[in-house]
Amino acid sequence: MKFLDEYRDPKLAAQLSRQIHKITTKSWVIMEVCGGQTHSIVKFGIDTLLPEQVELVHGPGCPVCVTPLEMIDRALAIAIQKDIIFCSFGDMLRVPGSQTDLLSIKAHGGDVRIVYSPLDAVKIAQENPQREIVFFAVGFETTAPANAMAVYQARELGLHNFSLLVSHVLVPPAMEAVLSSKFNRVQGFLAAGHVCAVMGYSEYPPIAAKYKVPIVVTGFEPLDILQGIAMCVQQLEEGRCEVENQYVRSVTAQGNPYAQDLVSKVFKVVPRKWRGIGEIPQSGLCLRPDYEDYDAEIKFNVAEIKTQESAECISGLILQGVKKPYECPAFGIKCTPQQPLGATMVSSEGACAAYYRYKRTPSWTN
Ligand code: SF4
Repeated sequence: MKFLDEYRDPKLAAQLSRQIHKITTKSWVIMEVCGGQTHSIVKFGIDTLLPEQVELVHGPGCPVCVTPLEMIDRALAIAIQKDIIFCSFGDMLRVPGSQTDLLSIKAHGGDVRIVYSPLDAVKIAQENPQREIVFFAVGFETTAPANAMAVYQARELGLHNFSLLVSHVLVPPAMEAVLSSKFNRVQGFLAAGHVCAVMGYSEYPPIAAKYKVPIVVTGFEPLDILQGIAMCVQQLEEGRCEVENQYVRSVTAQGNPYAQDLVSKVFKVVPRKWRGIGEIPQSGLCLRPDYEDYDAEIKFNVAEIKTQESAECISGLILQGVKKPYECPAFGIKCTPQQPLGATMVSSEGACAAYYRYKRTPSWTN
């Protein structure tokens, strides 16, 4: 298949694997930031092609996984109300809140709808003027432009029955949180290519310099990831800590200025709580005061809902590269995709779901 097969060529993969073996002389821990990269690594067995000294750990770049439990509870508190149409991307529906989930609310008659774009939710608002439409706006810099566009468009259309429940998070502050943690093991990063396609990578050189880590902007296909690892190991072996771009076919240093402009018109940067990790300063987005009328937290008065996360779920440690999913006592026993305890077992980008799906345990990999 054009634009896919060429990035999955087994001969080139073997060549890159040999190159990584050849240049590796010491032990290195590299974090792939994005959950999509984690799934590619586990699905295609990329980690098994690496020398023993190169360990990959899985980062916090899974939007569903890092959405705090209390934000899920706020979504549930809105979705259960009469005359609400609650719209969300599909993978949020099974994420457990403290009592229930969106899918159960739907099964019990709630009007919860899966949409593929926030603009679909705007259209639903146009078609249902007598009802309130709420879109659950989660995700990183990648989804922020479309969500910003939805609010912008709703205002242009004069819609007053549309709002966003915003739980946006930003990648660079999360990378800094990982690096400044007392548990940190990460020595190099594969940065998320799609985030950089929007934002560029000018935010990364200060992080690379401050924490002395190489950062390689990397794509999602097997050859992208192997090449990103090779570039990162090469820097580590040479004692360099620079920002390099493996994903040149999609990413430029400046990113997409039009998308950035729209995001900064609609959203402002705020501290944000990350599931399992806690609050990270300046790591999220919320609507600017100008767009307050479209803020579902204010409209439905749910901002005061606070929830303690389960102590049983160690997803926070997994998302910071401290533990692997199979080190969680609940993995595959009390926590499965059918009966998930935490979001990393539900999300299509979650590390626990990837390890479960592809049967990754120490006994399987040895
Ligand atoms: S296996 Fe389940 S309980 Fe354990 S960290 Fe993963 S999601 Fe949380």
